[in-house]
Amino acid sequence: MSDATKSVFARKALTAKGWENNVLVRVDGLGRIIAVAPESAAESASYSVDVLLPAQSNLHSHTFQRAMAGLSEARSPAGRDSFWTWREIMYRFLDILDPEDIESIAAFAFMEMLESGYASVAEFHYVHHQPGGQPYARLGELSERIAAAASATGIGLTLLPVAYMQGGVDGRALAGGQLRFGNDLERYVELVEQAKAAAKSVGPDAGFGVAPHSIRAVNERDLKAIEQQFQGVPFHIHIAEQIPEIEEVEAAYGQRSMSWLLDHLPVNERWCLIHATHMNDQETQRVAVSGAVVGLCPITEANLGDGIFNGVNYLRDGGRFGTGSDSNIRIAPSEELRQLEYSQRLRDVSRVTLSLEGKSCGRTLYDTALAGGAQALGRQSGSIAPGKWADMLALDVENTALFGLANDRLLDGWIFAGDRQAVSDVWSAGRHVVRDGRHHARAEVIAAYKKRLASILEKV
Ligand SMILES: [Zn+2]
Repeated sequence: MSDATKSVFARKALTAKGWENNVLVRVDGLGRIIAVAPESAAESASYSVDVLLPAQSNLHSHTFQRAMAGLSEARSPAGRDSFWTWREIMYRFLDILDPEDIESIAAFAFMEMLESGYASVAEFHYVHHQPGGQPYARLGELSERIAAAASATGIGLTLLPVAYMQGGVDGRALAGGQLRFGNDLERYVELVEQAKAAAKSVGPDAGFGVAPHSIRAVNERDLKAIEQQFQGVPFHIHIAEQIPEIEEVEAAYGQRSMSWLLDHLPVNERWCLIHATHMNDQETQRVAVSGAVVGLCPITEANLGDGIFNGVNYLRDGGRFGTGSDSNIRIAPSEELRQLEYSQRLRDVSRVTLSLEGKSCGRTLYDTALAGGAQALGRQSGSIAPGKWADMLALDVENTALFGLANDRLLDGWIFAGDRQAVSDVWSAGRHVVRDGRHHARAEVIAAYKKRLASILEKV
């Protein structure tokens, strides 16, 4: 990143004021937008594009799972496959990964995120220790590997070290692959401090938060202690993804998991509730007014057969959401939004379901996810406006999905007819990491990934 001010001229830009023609965006040496102003010609800019958009934040990712894509789609001999049979495959898979593997997969996934139009990511990072559970010489070794991958690719990182303390609500011990996740509260606090330092080393736009894995993996006392200890930073948790998990919590605590959480912890703007797939109407309404963001991962939720989020009621009640690539089986923000909308259409036998008055469906989805994603990451981004990090992307108007389209219809064309190939350029906090659809370190990142993957696949 150079220290000099730079500028991007856009013939069409979606700024904080809406769609504008002929705009010059000026960015300072740190990567913050300092001015957004009309400009008659591109000559004064250091770079020019046809269509400039704010770039999305990916609010939920487990990068290591990217290397599992294609490995869990064969039917198991036991019969019915589910999230839980997939989880067994995932636990066996992660147990063979070493720190080099984890860094290399993370860099590859981050590169794909950038090329598809995400400028930043919240990495929900839960593999901390060696296979068997022995910590590395530095407790934060694997957090540092994630940070190194973020530095190498230039993605904006919010690092979320995950607390995972028990194998179920009954307090049973961790077993198998889970041994790599475990920390008691004291060691978790130490880990967060190391992860915070690792994130800080990435750049001024990087940050950290805390993430108790779920109600089943962290008991009430520790959940409350983490909430108290780390005030003012993002707080992420998986919740209500699977019906058996809700039933397990209900049997032990006497309430459905989301109701229990809302009654026992101060769920507010710093919270990101990952999945929230199975909520009843009352829970949907309560979360919508809580100020928290729901972290939807529609492609992963479809792949895992989780179920369908009640998006129509949630949006009607003013709920906030963003999207995450979660298992990273397919990485593309526009496709997450399409999958989300299509799940509602198929369930309701209806069309244009997630759309606010006066806005197209694509525009509603895009705007809502921008705001929700930035809030969930605790990142000053989500719009092209002075003071925000310059997280931006350019669309390629020569992409076949975009021919003849303008303004909100461009978003509709990209989301419903296009894919990540429509993205030509991406800036993360002003770092121009993708040009002509290609990440600047693409060749090296892919070469390293393929090498690691070949040795991983020999062990699977
Ligand atoms: Zn997850």
